[in-house]
Amino acid sequence: MTASSRSCPPAASETGDPLLLTPGPLTTSRTVKAAMVHDWGSRDANFIEINRSVLARLAGVANGADDWVTVPMQGSGTFAVEAMLTTFVPANGEVLVLINGAYGKRAKRILEIAGRKTVVHETPEDTPPDLAQVEALLASKPSITHVFTIHCETTSGILNPIAQIGALAAKYNKGYLVDSMSAFGALPLDVQTMHIDAVAASSNKCIEGVPGLGFVICRREALKRTQGNATTLVLDLHEQWVNMEKTSQYRFTPPTHVIVAFHQALNEFDAEGGVAGRGGRYRHNCRILLEGMRALGFKPLLPDALQAPIIVTFHMPEDPRFVFSQFYESLKARGFVIYPGKLTVADSFRIGCIGRIGEKEMRAALAAIGEVLDEMGMAGAGTAGQALKTA
Ligand SMILES: *Cc1c(COP(=O)(O)O)cnc(C)c1O
Repeated sequence: MTASSRSCPPAASETGDPLLLTPGPLTTSRTVKAAMVHDWGSRDANFIEINRSVLARLAGVANGADDWVTVPMQGSGTFAVEAMLTTFVPANGEVLVLINGAYGKRAKRILEIAGRKTVVHETPEDTPPDLAQVEALLASKPSITHVFTIHCETTSGILNPIAQIGALAAKYNKGYLVDSMSAFGALPLDVQTMHIDAVAASSNKCIEGVPGLGFVICRREALKRTQGNATTLVLDLHEQWVNMEKTSQYRFTPPTHVIVAFHQALNEFDAEGGVAGRGGRYRHNCRILLEGMRALGFKPLLPDALQAPIIVTFHMPEDPRFVFSQFYESLKARGFVIYPGKLTVADSFRIGCIGRIGEKEMRAALAAIGEVLDEMGMAGAGTAGQALKTA
């Protein structure tokens, strides 16, 4: 038994809900859900203390020391990304946006709507950015003020080289903004050595809270210089920060239940051993998933070296007996929710490795997938491999 399988949590199906093998919202523990059965006033001293504790702990997950501050943003993860981009990038800024999936494209769209200039380096969804080309852009375009990238591009599950990109941003003296939404808490992230100015994440991915709170971990000196940059009232991180320092309050109604559940989720994250423990369990989940799916004849999109242990994209089998809607519904009926593909390069579907799931749940999901293949007339595990022709 490995350390990660020892800490394998109980099946969440004890609540009777299907397990969410998705990129979020995820299956959460019963204790995280139970934290929400109280009502809290936003000015309640206990709530304020819980919120303070949540914010104080988050920067540490990314090795942010005293000169780092975590600014919360009500809403889903994209609210935090939009707050980060539109607060850190001034009206006359220009962002080099590294795109290899839908979330990179979304960031570009946010910047365009906000009237910020962009330069794009785009690679296919199964390909990390070309660092030589990134450097060439930085060297040839002095008007670039910031570099933006995605840590794990959840569209495919690819791991992007955020440390190497950070080194280039530092070499050319650019601000560096990172969307670590689907990786935060599971993959190593060091805001100091990676030269990061701000990194956005949310309550409902690898920390295993419920959805409703985004946050941005900011280098204090960089955040101080953002006053007046924001082009919306609500998404102004500088205002949110100044107001919270002064009053300990959110400017607008906070998602109180979400924050109290997030506090419980952070306790459970620490108890599991932080990034090492959580990441270890997810890597174990991912390994089991890849082995089992390959044995059933499925083919992952990414080579192992590029695969983050967050979510795995599989090619859609070409066998005409494989009907994805039937596959999806039959798995759901067995208690497992998977995720359709979002790729432009290939017809695909995705299975997540994150949330309150461990070895037992991954093996149960694989057994269910084998059954569903049988149901679709694609024979047992042994022969399905031959029956499944992949792209
Ligand atoms: C989940 C996710 C987001 C935020 O998505 P929301 O639906 O707004 O929570 C942003 N970036 C990445 C890479 C993500 O995985």
